[in-house]
Amino acid sequence: MPELPEVETVKNGLQELCGTTLKAVIVRFPRLRYPLDEPLLNQEVGSKILKISRRAKYVIIHLERGYLLIHLGMSGRITLLKKNIPLQKHDHVDIICNDFILRYNDPRRFGCVVYATELENNPILGKLGPEPLEQDFTSDYLYQKVKTRKTAIKQLIMDNAIVVGVGNIYACESLFLSKISPLRLGENITLLECQVLVKNIKKVLNEAIAAGGSSLRDYKNAQGELGYFQQSHNVYGRAKKSCRICESIIREIRLGQRNSFYCPQCQS
Ligand SMILES: [Zn+2]
Repeated sequence: MPELPEVETVKNGLQELCGTTLKAVIVRFPRLRYPLDEPLLNQEVGSKILKISRRAKYVIIHLERGYLLIHLGMSGRITLLKKNIPLQKHDHVDIICNDFILRYNDPRRFGCVVYATELENNPILGKLGPEPLEQDFTSDYLYQKVKTRKTAIKQLIMDNAIVVGVGNIYACESLFLSKISPLRLGENITLLECQVLVKNIKKVLNEAIAAGGSSLRDYKNAQGELGYFQQSHNVYGRAKKSCRICESIIREIRLGQRNSFYCPQCQS
């Protein structure tokens, strides 16, 4: 599943679109996470693309009056084409601009492309907390959000209303680096621990973005595709393997319906 670093990388790879004009949005298969409304998506044909940004895991195309919001869901993939090429299976949407075609492919169809006139109070974006890499995501802020909560800290840092875009991999990895068990309740996390945790959330996300940036360039040259990269993890996906620090066996548990990985020795 594309996480914040992949979406950030996709956003960076789409900057070439800025300044071009939107010519058409073609929907071949409308039944994605939300039904895609082709007439609405074509509302701003003729508008210039002013900016491409990201909020949480949405790529946002800023047009002259509104926005196209793209979510990659579980398996979405965006290809930026300089000329039309034959369609592949699951190529559900084309966003056609002057010099480019942005082709959206999504086998599992949990993604979406929607048109919005505003970003604030947008029901699709919902109530979103700060971006983890922005300055307003601080240890004081996190401490205030978790200190009265009887919910596991891992679930709290994955809650978009507290902070956006800390997906399962990055939650597991940043808790490991912070030596905090994913099971600890928010009310038992100290301000000092919040400082370490905030620092490590930023660190793992920045490292993933940096890794994605470099592997993406190679991949893009060959495929013209933007999207995925693999990294080596300390705990995520390493159940029953030995901890890289203490050689204890990494444990896997279900927490809030997500698989969670941690070292019972290093994390408490
Ligand atoms: Zn360990």
